[in-house]
Amino acid sequence: MVVSLQQHQTRVPIEFTQSAYETALAQYDRAVGKLKLDDNVVEYMRWPQREFTVNFPVRRDNGKIEMFTGYRVHHSTVMGPSKGGIRYSLNVTLDEVRALAMWMTWKCALVNLPYGGAKGGVLVDPKSLSVREREGLTRRYASELLPLISPHSDIPAPDMGTGPQEMAWIMDTYSMTVGYAARAVVTGKPINIGGSQGRTEATGRGVIICMMEALERKGINNPANTSIVIQGFGNVGSHAALYAQELGFKVVGISDIDGGIYNANGLNVPAVRDWMAKTGTVCGFNGASAVTNSELLTLPCDVLIPAAMEGQITEHNAPYIRAKVIVEGANGPTTTEADDIINDRGILLVPDVLANAGGVIVSYFEWVQGLQEFFWDKEEVFRQLERILVRSYDATVATAEKHGVDLRTGAQMTAIQRVGDALLTRGFYP
Ligand code: GLU
Repeated sequence: MVVSLQQHQTRVPIEFTQSAYETALAQYDRAVGKLKLDDNVVEYMRWPQREFTVNFPVRRDNGKIEMFTGYRVHHSTVMGPSKGGIRYSLNVTLDEVRALAMWMTWKCALVNLPYGGAKGGVLVDPKSLSVREREGLTRRYASELLPLISPHSDIPAPDMGTGPQEMAWIMDTYSMTVGYAARAVVTGKPINIGGSQGRTEATGRGVIICMMEALERKGINNPANTSIVIQGFGNVGSHAALYAQELGFKVVGISDIDGGIYNANGLNVPAVRDWMAKTGTVCGFNGASAVTNSELLTLPCDVLIPAAMEGQITEHNAPYIRAKVIVEGANGPTTTEADDIINDRGILLVPDVLANAGGVIVSYFEWVQGLQEFFWDKEEVFRQLERILVRSYDATVATAEKHGVDLRTGAQMTAIQRVGDALLTRGFYP
């Protein structure tokens, strides 16, 4: 597949093979192909606005200094300050961060948040760090990001491998530098330092809200007879599973990086969560059979929720998926080839930019609460979350039906049109 950035060798010699960014660009091309947008606007939005690479030292517990590499990419600031998580993983590359930043632009625009898109990442296995090393790495990375981040320019949040504690350290590092407590510089903070009620559960809960919208349109409306398989049991997968069970759905399969578990009669999700807390994995859970991660994706079920990472549903497994509905908890879990197979097979896919937007929606609430110093209760957070998601789902379906396209293309078209219109209204500087 040809990657557009390589067409501009004279400007930026970026080289990469099949990748997350390639998926993001292929999706973009598909969506803009259906829109009547100004060519200049189309070209402008293909490009990440800023890409920041830092190499920085961390002192390990044995006294040695080790160098780490981190990134922060701002895909767009057309709609407002850039927003997006920071991930710690051994899969982090500039290419991946670039794709994730672009998806954040579309996600925020689709759900009508006043943000552009960003993403950050550090190439590290967070499990290989002691708490002290993790704090040192986070604080030093945060201080390297000081030229970029602030409550009004770029607002980080958790992503894979990071959570509330990392956000607390970033907030503290920034606050010590500016000389006052700057809550709104990050979201996903612990509640006792200005985090929002409901932020931890928000992404998983949003996935299930979108799933219910999809099931309703498919005429599937008996939760007790509706089986769900979830790939990934991190923040997104675990909260999706817990909320689904709370609503009476049957979660039959769950996996993590080490493998999966399956019980056709339904798993006891809180018990799986406790087992995971004790052993570090879902594997070995009593009362379920073991499945491999690839078997998990093709288990018989009504709903499949990929909530792990990019590139999991490919042309190799898409023909064998037995779910009627796929709801993307992860960012970019489906390749473009797999998208085509899924659409041809009549499986309804709710795309990432809609399905997992619950996280950034409640991040937005947290940011607003921090700026106003006025805090909401959990009921209010969840009520507003559902209102925004249902409205965005309806907007996506309306665009998809109007243009005869799938929901991913419908979602991206809706978002891209909004960013494109705003760009034209603001004009090209200078
Ligand atoms: N990392 C999350 C995402 O991919 C949340 C981003 C945020 O809250 O800013 O949407």
